[in-house]
Amino acid sequence: MRYVVIGGSVGGLAAALEIRRLTGAQVAVYERSGAQLQARGAGVVMQPDVAWLLEQHGRTADEVCVGLSERVRLTRDGERLTQQSPQLMTAWDTLYGALRESLRDACYRQDSELVTLEQSDTAVHVAFADGYETQADYLVAADGINSQCRTILEGPASPRYAGYVAWRGLEAESDLPAEVVVELQDRFTLYAQNGMQFLCYLVPGEDGNTEPGGRRVNWVWYINTPAAELASVMRGESGRVYQSFVPAGDVNESARSKAHHLAQRELPSLLNSLVESSRLFVQPVQDVAASRRVFGRCALIGDAAGTVRPHTAAGTAKAFADATLLARTLSTWDAQSPLPLDALREWGRQRNGETTATAQMGLNSAAASALGMPNAPQPWDFA
Ligand SMILES: Cc1cc2nc3c(=O)[nH]c(=O)nc-3n(C[C@H](O)[C@H](O)[C@H](O)COP(=O)(O)OP(=O)(O)OC[C@H]3O[C@@H](n4cnc5c(N)ncnc54)[C@H](O)[C@@H]3O)c2cc1C
Repeated sequence: MRYVVIGGSVGGLAAALEIRRLTGAQVAVYERSGAQLQARGAGVVMQPDVAWLLEQHGRTADEVCVGLSERVRLTRDGERLTQQSPQLMTAWDTLYGALRESLRDACYRQDSELVTLEQSDTAVHVAFADGYETQADYLVAADGINSQCRTILEGPASPRYAGYVAWRGLEAESDLPAEVVVELQDRFTLYAQNGMQFLCYLVPGEDGNTEPGGRRVNWVWYINTPAAELASVMRGESGRVYQSFVPAGDVNESARSKAHHLAQRELPSLLNSLVESSRLFVQPVQDVAASRRVFGRCALIGDAAGTVRPHTAAGTAKAFADATLLARTLSTWDAQSPLPLDALREWGRQRNGETTATAQMGLNSAAASALGMPNAPQPWDFA
């Protein structure tokens, strides 16, 4: 038995690990990126599905997380409303490292961009941009929001811009002013007004360090931004046009200075200092949903199957649950038997139902700050 997984981010790695654990089959992962994967989701709120999967592979949530004890809501003039709310926070690269380590003896091929996918009654054939081809008994598509697998299996469906952009930062605590870090550590800090929302928490350092002095400060600032302005934000200083992520080194000067100006005008001074001291990067918030997940010998998981708004902090957990439950559904199948299509379709229905419910929660959270709502304030216009 051989499985191929397309996309080697957190969802793809979770699928590869669980399929190997539950089926004993050979698994190969194919990832488009070359050297280092782009850290799209910088900070990740630890969720039970993620902790559970780590435990199955000999790791614990505590090892890869920074703990915090309270949630603090700031007002514009810096007053605080505090509530006890213990949580564990990790980072995309910490999680990626832990999963990759558990899969170190499996095939993980980088620089492998899937371009075609065909299936017969007995196998799935895939071909990559560099000319490499292979085949397998089953394919898991974990290739993210702009999934090429989804496009081939279901037809093109461009992600829809949700009407707001996430400005982000991820800085070593030692690179930030000490008085800023003291105010932010051990807390989930929030600030919101109509048309924008800011949140911040500490995560492990780049090397996985969870101890004071070695952690990073992760922040996200959602700002309503008219669709007509999006192109000017997504054009890098280098001139390159990005689809879903502008890296810290290439945010264009005009957009960056607009963000700084807005931070100075609208944010509490603590958060303005944080923005001023950070290398900004950008992700537009986008929605996409596949109509179904099961296409013969192929299944869509994670963002390839459908996104949820980042306010739910559930994107990674959703990808992990997709992976774990798919592996369970395939656990008794062998290549000599017919595909368990009814069970797979039931998996697809359940997972789509769960994603739709979580997506709705995300829409509600966004609406609470008028993010992406019709006729909502557009702070970016006034920056
Ligand atoms: C602003 C923002 C903030 C977020 N914050 C959080 C958060 O705090 N917590 C959380 O849990 N989630 C968060 N998310 C969501 C999270 O990033 C995703 O839900 C999660 O990364 C999904 O994982 P995935 O493996 O399905 O897809 P991705 O992480 O997008 O990975 C897809 C992979 O497939 C590869 N790929 C793409 N095309 C091909 C191809 N043709 N061939 C081979 N490989 C390919 C890509 O290079 C990539 O590595 C956030 C999202 C956004 C937009």
